[in-house]
Amino acid sequence: MIYVTINDESFIYDVHSLIKAFYPAEDIRVIPDNQDGPKDMCPKFAVYAGSDLISVKECVSDGYSRSITISNGLYDDRPAYKSELKRQLYNALTEYTGHSLPWGTLTGIRPTKLAMNCLLHGADEAKAVSYMKDYYLCSDKKAHLATDIALRERRILHGIADNAAALATGYSLYIGIPFCPSRCMYCSFMSYPIATHTKAIAGYIEALKKEIDYVASAFGGRRLDSIYIGGGTPTTLSAAQLSGLIGYVIDRVDISTIREFTVEAGRADSIDREKLTVLKELGVDRISVNPQTFNEETLRLIGRKATAAQTIEAYELAREAGFDNINMDIILGLPGEDMDDIRYTLRNVACLKPDDLTVHSLALKRGSRLAEILTESKDACDKLRNTDIDYETAMTLTEETAASIGLKPYYLYRQKNISGNLENTGYAAAGREGIYNILMMEEVQDIVACGAGTVSKHVAIQPDGSALITRCDTHKDLKLYINDIDMMIERKKKMYA
Ligand code: SF4
Repeated sequence: MIYVTINDESFIYDVHSLIKAFYPAEDIRVIPDNQDGPKDMCPKFAVYAGSDLISVKECVSDGYSRSITISNGLYDDRPAYKSELKRQLYNALTEYTGHSLPWGTLTGIRPTKLAMNCLLHGADEAKAVSYMKDYYLCSDKKAHLATDIALRERRILHGIADNAAALATGYSLYIGIPFCPSRCMYCSFMSYPIATHTKAIAGYIEALKKEIDYVASAFGGRRLDSIYIGGGTPTTLSAAQLSGLIGYVIDRVDISTIREFTVEAGRADSIDREKLTVLKELGVDRISVNPQTFNEETLRLIGRKATAAQTIEAYELAREAGFDNINMDIILGLPGEDMDDIRYTLRNVACLKPDDLTVHSLALKRGSRLAEILTESKDACDKLRNTDIDYETAMTLTEETAASIGLKPYYLYRQKNISGNLENTGYAAAGREGIYNILMMEEVQDIVACGAGTVSKHVAIQPDGSALITRCDTHKDLKLYINDIDMMIERKKKMYA
């Protein structure tokens, strides 16, 4: 545990997340200096935020201290002061640890949004890159990556609508199917094993239909830009159930304007020819077939029961069924994997040539079996934690693989506790970019999310052009969601009213 003291409580979150980025394997506690911590507390750093001074000191061996004098005016401008505090803390930690972070002071999940804002305010590409480097202290490579992606996203969004206000008049529909063939060790999503929840499916679909009725009546007349059915694994439903559910959506909701209809067929052990035919016939034009890794031993270890051979077979079936936009997800840093395993997975990806490749760096998420095991047992830590992976090199290898099959980065996001403190990146061939991914990540329009454990988003463009974003969620528990479906719909009504 690393203890840190701070004199201003309003910066606890920012100080915590930045120190955590430098010490990802440690628990961090930031305690106001006017409060007592635990008896045995021995703070490692003290952060002081004053009206004319910001300072960071190492407390343990009193060997390190960094401070900067600032003007009083800055102290009154809280966002600007917070940014300066983070830069000073970042510089101090870089000096102290001898390490820098690829994303500088950025600890949030949407770095491309900052580059996008910069472009929207009239900056050219060079200025946006400088802004990411000077203001957020990003590396040159990440500043260029964020700006390139923002430029590509802006071009794609322009294909839907000319400006932010027009984009926000449209909406996208998300439907969550929280069932999977088995639970993967690293997963923290809503996911119930299908074998033990078969009886719940009919009730769940009925509840979904009620939500879809609400969407049809409340959003009738608005432009629907994309539909995304995710989960879980939607293709754990039978062909008849998929047909019934998607058919219901098409009957009720005006889909005449949609540009993309995605269904995650993530697990190869849930895919067959009949389901693919149903999806294709109902107008689904983008699917995911997700290997995560092509290493059989890893797949067994993480409890992902689909084999690499099944993934290849499912992928070929999907091509035969006529899908010309197939996404693949892979994860860098899975338990027990080293750089050779990553190279092996990338060679398989290059052979299959998906249209879209999403590369995740493993994130240790609360609620996942992996996080539990690593907390419980030191031995398990040694076996499951990956120390053999150079994440920068692994990311470079994925970039090269993506480029070799004609894919370029088009969206990016970060997560808490992400391996190597890096990012997840979506690559796609020209014209195959996942539109829903961009709309969702850039928060430019309403995302109406139906299903248990989903979060709907309302984007309201303000007179000054900024976006005010509100969210509402649904119960994560399956039974509660079904029982309280009317209340779930009421929540949405209230927010979208
Ligand atoms: S298939 Fe996806 S959603 Fe299902 S358990 Fe595995 S990681 Fe989670």
